[in-house]
Amino acid sequence: MAGAVSSMTPEAYNSYIEHMRREQYLMLKDAIYLDHAGTTLYSKRLMESFQAEMMSSLFGNPHSASPSSLRSTQMVEDVRLELLRYFHADPEHFDLVFTANATAAIKLVMEAFREQKEGFSYGYHVDSHTSIVGVRESAKAHQCLESDEEVGRWVGHHAGASDEDELRLFAYPAQSNMNGRRLPLDWCRRIRENLSSRRSYSLLDAAAYASTSPLDFSHVEAAPDFTALSLYKIFGFPDLGALIVRKDAAPLFQGRRYFGGGTVDMVVCMKEQWHAKKGGSLHEQLEDGSLPIHSIIALKSALQTHKELFGSLDRISSHTARLAKELHDGLRSLKHANGRSACTIYKHTRSEYGSAATQGPIVAFNLCDSKGKWVSNTEVEKLASVKNIHLRTGGVCNPGGIAQALCLAPWEMLENFSAGHRCGGENDILNGKPTGVIRVSLGAMSTQLDVTRFLDFVHEFFVDRLALPQPMGPSGPAQMSAEQRFHVESLTVYPIKSCAGWQIPHGTPWAIRDEGLAWDREWCIVHQGTSKALSQKQHPRMALLRPSIDFKAGVLRMGAPGSAEQVTVPLSKDPNYFETTDFAQRNATVCGEPIKARLYTSDTVAEFFTKALGVPCTLARFPAASSQSPSIRHSKAHLQQARQRSNVPRPILLSNESPILTISRSSLNRLNEQIKAKGGKAAHPSVFRANIVLAESPFLPPGHEQPWAEDAWQSMRVGGEDGPVLEFLGGCRRCQMVCIDQVSGEKNQEPFVTLAKTRRFEGRVLFGVHTALAAEQRGVGATITAGDVVETVARADTFEA
Ligand SMILES: *Cc1c(COP(=O)(O)O)cnc(C)c1O
Repeated sequence: MAGAVSSMTPEAYNSYIEHMRREQYLMLKDAIYLDHAGTTLYSKRLMESFQAEMMSSLFGNPHSASPSSLRSTQMVEDVRLELLRYFHADPEHFDLVFTANATAAIKLVMEAFREQKEGFSYGYHVDSHTSIVGVRESAKAHQCLESDEEVGRWVGHHAGASDEDELRLFAYPAQSNMNGRRLPLDWCRRIRENLSSRRSYSLLDAAAYASTSPLDFSHVEAAPDFTALSLYKIFGFPDLGALIVRKDAAPLFQGRRYFGGGTVDMVVCMKEQWHAKKGGSLHEQLEDGSLPIHSIIALKSALQTHKELFGSLDRISSHTARLAKELHDGLRSLKHANGRSACTIYKHTRSEYGSAATQGPIVAFNLCDSKGKWVSNTEVEKLASVKNIHLRTGGVCNPGGIAQALCLAPWEMLENFSAGHRCGGENDILNGKPTGVIRVSLGAMSTQLDVTRFLDFVHEFFVDRLALPQPMGPSGPAQMSAEQRFHVESLTVYPIKSCAGWQIPHGTPWAIRDEGLAWDREWCIVHQGTSKALSQKQHPRMALLRPSIDFKAGVLRMGAPGSAEQVTVPLSKDPNYFETTDFAQRNATVCGEPIKARLYTSDTVAEFFTKALGVPCTLARFPAASSQSPSIRHSKAHLQQARQRSNVPRPILLSNESPILTISRSSLNRLNEQIKAKGGKAAHPSVFRANIVLAESPFLPPGHEQPWAEDAWQSMRVGGEDGPVLEFLGGCRRCQMVCIDQVSGEKNQEPFVTLAKTRRFEGRVLFGVHTALAAEQRGVGATITAGDVVETVARADTFEA
């Protein structure tokens, strides 16, 4: 196989991968996986080979003399050697230490240097991963080298200086995990060759690099002293890391104080305290405790099957370099109708897509709309998730690289930090600048089709094709500013946050309070371990839990589909009535906000929800309305709004102002026409989880409805002259949660995809309006009833411009 692959043309290799992965990477069916820099994927053949190996023999703990133990020891030593050979590292000159991950490998080096009596001086490249940056905390002096020129000066550090004999460590990534730049490998050689700095060492972080590029240590003098690796980033499995150490540098580990498990020969405890550390090889001295023997067995299968499936790493390197160039060039050429570029790509000036020596298969970028405004990364993430595209956004653990790419000064980063990224971090554009990037990364099993599909996706959602006016301007409502066209079609409360709604019977007057409709979001379901409130986003099955309110019996009833089982809890909050051992006060979090919730301690209740959702959870009751911020009643994702001014639709001003959500049936009808025109499935009103659905007369002739009239509304009076006045606070920001079918719990692409195309305003996808009792009405109390007439009043500012 390896031979056949090496003679293929690039096109033939690509179609070979396309074909092979249908069998070997079944999880990629329908998915566009672009986060290989996070981890790559494992093949079916690897898992089968691993299983066969595990079943073939008896493997014991390596630290004894039984045959099963000796077999494990032998296996570990064989795999260690094989892995060294994989990097052309001669065991005469190199040793390999198994670690949990690359970070643990880096920490081993840090510990060795920390134990050096005179301390050490640390230099690290600005493109470093946080795991490399953290070493500085143990150094006596440290410096972030912000350019290759600075590295050159550090590396060429001249003799004669007073600190000539100082112990120094220089660390850098072979490939940036942020923008994929590949840094010069010969810095390691230059450090060693500089005679004036015999006590300078190099630490190469090859975690990102090694996944799509061969590392070759056959030239011992040019090799790094320490190399950190993430093996799962190369093979997809097992979850292991490794540290390759040049034996010359091994004495540095002598100062290590800790011993444990496998790294000690004899220990005397009690009166006389003495121990003999393992002599022997470096790995014997550093691998504390039992080795992850089963992972090492898997590594054997990984090495074998990887070669069979992909040929050589050179082949992977040229394949991914070619795809990355296509991806980069494709993104760069995306232009809005007015000629503006849609993508800003963060590429290092010294790197070139298509050249595997300077650039790995990662593209970091941000998107701009046709007016040149940044598109929020969360916006991109939401759409990507609906389209089953897997990518990473944000700071990607690379603080220096991000700061340089985005030109963020330290004070800005601190300010961004204190501004906080909470609950979905919708505010990822601060002071007009993005605070993170979109990162797409390719791996050995990526294909041209992944690239084309991703480019199509960006083109479809983020490139304006025609210089059209705003998609849905506020068609200024008719001449009058107060109108009676709508009525309350239905009222719904959601007694348990994120679960199904309960429709208030037609004609029943319902209390409306400052914090919303009575009994709305009175309860939530919290994880038993973290006390975090569960949300439908992670647990779509919550939609299937249907609570109902039974006033006669004074209980909230809960049933689950496919089960006759029901549980009830009393509606009353009266402590005398039932608060004996039923509740435990807990610090819980809802959408990242700490609250004091009262957990039901009953096993029956906990079991019911745990069984229904498949996660250990139970019911909790929110604290009394007066002590709770109304913001936690609705998912924060709806509420977080940029505080900038905008004409249409009005964004809400404060995040804690939205007790009620109102939608218009006419707008929904319009949306569904658009969805159906494209062959999609119409959205059921329940997906929007509104409290109030407003509708126009069913007898209106076709085309006479007023969709999106709510964009222009300021307030409404419900139920005639004496009815309460409700204020509209602004559009409700939507996410992919509207794609969860509230009957089946299944995820679709609609209506989010169409909403994102037709109802996106400055990066916010809006449907429905946040609503609250008008200020003068607060504290008074009122009722509304399904069927009530509604008189709407339009905002003055919609007549402007
Ligand atoms: C992933 C990565 C790390 C961290 O690796 P772990 O195995 O998660 O510890 C460090 N550096 C770079 C460049 C990486 O890509």
